[in-house]
Amino acid sequence: MSKTARLIAVFFSVVFISFSLGASYFISVHKPPRTFQKIIREKNPWIKKGMFSSRVCNGIQCRLCPFNCFLPDGARGLCRVRANYGGNLVSLVYGKPASVHLDPIEKKPVFHLLPGSLVYSLATAGCNLYCRSCQNWGISQIYPEESDNKVFIPVKLNLFRDSSGNLRAKVENKEVAFLSPADIIKCALNTKCRSVAYTYSEPVVFYEYMLHTAKLARRKGLKNVMITGGYINQEPLKEIAKYMDVIKVDLKGFNAEYYRKYVGGELEVLKDVLKTLKEEGVFLEIVNLVIPTLNDSDEDISRLIDWVKRNLGADTPIFFSRFSPNYKLTNLPATPVETLEKARNQALKRGLKYVYIGNVPGHQGENTYCPKCHRILIRRYGYMVLFDLVSANGGRCPYDGTRIPGLWK
Ligand code: SF4
Repeated sequence: MSKTARLIAVFFSVVFISFSLGASYFISVHKPPRTFQKIIREKNPWIKKGMFSSRVCNGIQCRLCPFNCFLPDGARGLCRVRANYGGNLVSLVYGKPASVHLDPIEKKPVFHLLPGSLVYSLATAGCNLYCRSCQNWGISQIYPEESDNKVFIPVKLNLFRDSSGNLRAKVENKEVAFLSPADIIKCALNTKCRSVAYTYSEPVVFYEYMLHTAKLARRKGLKNVMITGGYINQEPLKEIAKYMDVIKVDLKGFNAEYYRKYVGGELEVLKDVLKTLKEEGVFLEIVNLVIPTLNDSDEDISRLIDWVKRNLGADTPIFFSRFSPNYKLTNLPATPVETLEKARNQALKRGLKYVYIGNVPGHQGENTYCPKCHRILIRRYGYMVLFDLVSANGGRCPYDGTRIPGLWK
């Protein structure tokens, strides 16, 4: 073998070995998504044909959210709960909630819809974002097969008077393996709820389950509330918006770099989603979890306030909520209340009319004030409503008649 040939052979051997080592390292760090053969073998009833997909090359593309995952047969998406099964997009969590509760609407938090009412709240496993501060990571960041196959659900709320004449409530629960949209509506009505909330994890990823439930809920006179990160494509967004009475969007921060690094998405996408919801006429509330050192700078807060005012309107309720050390951010302290107060004062000064402080029970920033006469219209303590003059006055301030945006009956 000539010297040149030997050199070429050595060169290609080095390239081949480097490539193999690199590929092994890449695969060990970026594990391929799990397939879901285990679920299929168990023949569970939670697999339902998914909406918004197209066929591409040797697989399908899910078009529900901006990740537009490409899915070869047997693979599932980033959200863990949507997959390619035999060439079709399927949801793996239809009828399989990981969490179902009766909540006060204030817990969402939603402040401009039926104050003091109960909301039937549910979530499945999965999420398409990866917030380092997630408060529900125990369900949002798991595979559906990691959640229990049965879940306790509230089925009935009984009101009665105790021996002292005080009104008491007792909730009856039941364990179920499958919870259909019709079951949800029945339970919501039997538990005296006035709305259904798609919440806790990320309802975008259980889209079909949410959509079918929301359609039924509307027919039965229940309101629909979606609590979401809002990371969704425009077509499914417009479809679901038709059935939602309130959409609460967790804006998470107003800094593109922060959003990419700590949330896992592109802020511009979310801005477009919010503008679309405004155009579609959905009632919006915004929440911004303020995290020390990450998204609490005066500059970020100012830009957020100005953008909301300019694009969504000064009437849009906005919450500055307190962060508590959680999930991947246990190294950071809780947000000082002064930071939240500063953000709230700034927002009020710049013309936003309904600015709240979240996760600080008893703070005056939990109350709803008339933007004209500045008197308290709804007084709250944590999740409790102490009085509500708005609902009692047809959605207006009883002192000067100012109309307060929201749904009050
Ligand atoms: S919903 Fe899930 S599968 Fe579909 S594009 Fe988004 S992350 Fe991917």
